[in-house]
Amino acid sequence: MPKHYPIYTIETECQDCYRCLRQCPVKAIQVEGGRATVVPELCIACGQCVAACPSHAKQVRSDMFGVFKLLRGSRPTYVSLAPSWVTEFPDTSPQSMIAALRRLGFSGVSETALGAQEVSAAVAQTLSQGGPRLLLSTACPAAVDFIRGYMPELVPNLTPLLSPLLSHCRMLRRAYGPQIGVVFFGPCVAKKTEADNHPGLLDAAMTYTDLRAMLREDGINPASLVPGPADVFMPQPARDGALYPIEGGMSDTVKAYAGNAQVCFTTLSGIATIEAALQGIQNHVLPRPVFVEMLACVGGCVRGPCVSSNRPRLLDQLDVFNRAAKPVPDTPVRPAVVAISERKNPSPVDIPVYSEDQYVKVLRLIGKFGPEDEINCGGCGHESCRGLARAMLEGMAEPSMCVHFLRKRATRKANTLLRCIPAGVVIADAKLHIIECNEHFARLFGEDTLMAYEASPGMEGATLEKIVPFIGLFRRALETETDIHRDALRQDDRVFSVTIFTIEPRNVIGGVIFDVTGSELRRDEIAQRAREIIRKNLETVQEIACRLGENMADTEILLRSLAEGFSSGARTIAEKDLRGRRP
Ligand code: SF4
Ligand code: SF4
Repeated sequence: MPKHYPIYTIETECQDCYRCLRQCPVKAIQVEGGRATVVPELCIACGQCVAACPSHAKQVRSDMFGVFKLLRGSRPTYVSLAPSWVTEFPDTSPQSMIAALRRLGFSGVSETALGAQEVSAAVAQTLSQGGPRLLLSTACPAAVDFIRGYMPELVPNLTPLLSPLLSHCRMLRRAYGPQIGVVFFGPCVAKKTEADNHPGLLDAAMTYTDLRAMLREDGINPASLVPGPADVFMPQPARDGALYPIEGGMSDTVKAYAGNAQVCFTTLSGIATIEAALQGIQNHVLPRPVFVEMLACVGGCVRGPCVSSNRPRLLDQLDVFNRAAKPVPDTPVRPAVVAISERKNPSPVDIPVYSEDQYVKVLRLIGKFGPEDEINCGGCGHESCRGLARAMLEGMAEPSMCVHFLRKRATRKANTLLRCIPAGVVIADAKLHIIECNEHFARLFGEDTLMAYEASPGMEGATLEKIVPFIGLFRRALETETDIHRDALRQDDRVFSVTIFTIEPRNVIGGVIFDVTGSELRRDEIAQRAREIIRKNLETVQEIACRLGENMADTEILLRSLAEGFSSGARTIAEKDLRGRRP
């Protein structure tokens, strides 16, 4: 089954903040429907978006169950452990760390730094043989992918070597057999793409986050393990290769080789720094050979995207520095112990060119009608308004990402509403100072207020208490965080309909106020008339009732006499009838 790209987004967790996009050095993130997702074809797997995402929506593929499966299988599997592990598990000795990994089921643990040492030897040899004037390191796969994709003109300057990790894999396979499994543990996401692209060398690249999860799963606490005699690095511990995770570490190891006195060594960490330093360099003749150590992460791998340390970086750098053996000056140049040559090919990212007309059209969609509107705030995650426009042209962004435009539009809408609404509207802060009010509001409270409004439309900062007679309602709404509504609030000879509501609990409240004095008077008048009609009707009803009462009495008398007449008549007929039947 094909593997997913190493970085993915949990879309439901994406909070639309564009922080990932802001951090992404190559803007490989597409925003669609407010969700920011990684575009693998543009991504260099630097992992900066993962480290930056505040809601952990950007995730790194785990590969943990694949590794557990590998460990359950018949192939002996070895760990390639990144030298930065000392900063991730500062309380654990190397032997206890090895014991923990072996307890997970690995056959042995080896240091990736061994591969780094071979890379340093090979670089030193290339330099001593008078390679290209400018030589760019290939230790960091993210930096290499950046050059291949975004500065392909510099691909010939990349050292034609495998990375330290892949070199180490080759060493392990030579030492323990081509069939072994190799699993890397480190701080890096880009190593996962190395594993995906070189399945024959590296079975899986795991992060420290993965390692912690595996240890947790098996209930292993490395710091508490008592190591045995077999808990040692295989085939031997590394030396100065362990300096690679810190800025300048690789350069120091290469510099130590004899014959490099003419070479200028420099370190560039962070993709933006690399880009700025190398842009257009191919058009210049360098006065002396230059070796550039490139690291995608600012500060080096000790600040890789999957480290959990939040100590000052200097402490982590010192831990790495103290643990590594120091390079020995004037080490004789030698070839690498395994074949680690590999030529890199350019893999240029397609960067379309757009006309000025296209830019102008798209910029208008985000309310930019001239250079003065292009404030380049970076809120959208792009470095400039034109950057966002370009992303929109590429189908990678949407107009709603321009916070400035949205705000302007929202403000315009709010202002129009405030102006047109036939009610007094006021918004006030926790101290009941006006944040904003409309003219209707000012008109409600007399000439002085209206003059103050004309002098300073919106009346920002004015004290509400001095204007509104029913300030107590505002206070109560603020304190209780409940909305208050009064239909007919009488103040002297006036009647107000008032609604006060919370905008930000205990911080901002709003009020909508109508003067309903006129309609209240009319209502009083109507009520008065209604009362009169009701009274008259009542009188009529009572009268009718009386009449009905009298009529009822007459009717009763009549009916009684009729009934009595009827019953006495009936009696007489019956008696006659009875007499007539007697013999
Ligand atoms: S991994 Fe790096 S290049 Fe890829 S999307 Fe994230 S920040 Fe951008
Ligand atoms: S600097 Fe190190 S951790 Fe960061 S991407 Fe490069 S190799 Fe990986």
